[in-house]
Amino acid sequence: MAKEELECSFCGRKKPETNLLIAGLDAHICDRCIEQAHGIVIEESKQTGNSELSSELMLRKPKEIKAFLDEYIIGQEYTKRVMSVAVYNHYKRLLQPPSEDDIEIQKSNIIMVGQTGTGKTLMAKTVARMLNVPLAIVDATVLTEAGYVGEDVESILTRLLQAADYNLEKAQRGIVFIDEIDKIARKSDNPSITRDVSGEGVQQALLKLLEGTVVNVPPKGGRKHPDQKFIEVNTEHILFIAGGAFDGIERVITKRLNMQAIGYSSIKDDNVDDDNILQYIIPKDLKDFGLIPEIIGRLPVLTHMDPLDANTLRAILTEPKNAIIKQYKKLFAMDEVDFSITDGALDYIVEKAIEYKLGARGLRSLCEEILTEAMFDLPGSGESKLNVTKAYAEDRLNKSTLKKLKAVS
Ligand code: ADP
Repeated sequence: MAKEELECSFCGRKKPETNLLIAGLDAHICDRCIEQAHGIVIEESKQTGNSELSSELMLRKPKEIKAFLDEYIIGQEYTKRVMSVAVYNHYKRLLQPPSEDDIEIQKSNIIMVGQTGTGKTLMAKTVARMLNVPLAIVDATVLTEAGYVGEDVESILTRLLQAADYNLEKAQRGIVFIDEIDKIARKSDNPSITRDVSGEGVQQALLKLLEGTVVNVPPKGGRKHPDQKFIEVNTEHILFIAGGAFDGIERVITKRLNMQAIGYSSIKDDNVDDDNILQYIIPKDLKDFGLIPEIIGRLPVLTHMDPLDANTLRAILTEPKNAIIKQYKKLFAMDEVDFSITDGALDYIVEKAIEYKLGARGLRSLCEEILTEAMFDLPGSGESKLNVTKAYAEDRLNKSTLKKLKAVS
């Protein structure tokens, strides 16, 4: 082919019409098409990479983050505020340009202390949903030191990779929720147990992850194996949220408060709200409970969950965006059944949840018990209405489950 006849395989321009024509194996590309293609590459990477995160995240100020959390989580005002600021700061840190000064923003990993069923997991899930980042929920109780039976701490990152569909970039900006962190507390402070160092070993292993490090992660999980290929995951920009019930920590807090009251502290006994002792928690209490100081240092944002009272439980039933009652309404609507429930029945469910100490988690099981029969009978029956009254709810619970629920409590 004569030089003049060469043309761009993309736009068809002849060589003389271009400034530059680059030859490939059996195709050519001109300078204009290169430029266009470059533009497309930039656009694409904006949509999938860092820039997407930056524009989405930076638009959300703490107050907006809190407003989002309000849609899904009832009460827990303090934690929602703390969480909003911590998440905001975390992503600000992540987006900071290379530092010109020596000020380096440190990680704002979070630790939430609160009874089971008060919404700790929900809090982590909602934050991840808002940020549209992958979330791994792991249970600290299954983690063990390398070499022991159980899962290595690296398995946390395997989960995160899985949650991110193995998109490393996404995983490295994700959130890890470590549940039951209290179960790996060192127990040697407890005189009734003479020696238990296993918890401490796991805490040590977690330190590096929390701080930010590059970890070789087996992509399919399981034990590290010499022949296995690893993915290098950098945890520097992963937000860690730990949660735990810390059963008995109230005693530690009360003891400290009493000692302060005897001393010179401003907190006097009669100012202490005995129904919500957790609100006075400070990092030292975690240490006295058995977390090692290094772990506490790497979870610098400490917050507590309030216990759920009747009003909160009642609101949880109906108010959140995907409230339990709204879910049932939707389920019945799919069978063209108009589902409604009276205030009396809702109050009754709350009363029972409190009576059986089932917390928010119990609301769901109670509703299931009350509605299962209707969910079985109504589809295809031609019935188009279900109105659950207190009498109906009482009847259903008495018939089927009272014994079962009592056994749970
Ligand atoms: P935790 O992790 O503290 O044990 P979860 O977050 O798993 O508790 O909550 C248990 C259930 O109760 C979830 O289904 C959640 O939707 C509901 N729940 C708990 N607390 C709240 C709350 N404050 N607002 C709305 N739903 C809640």
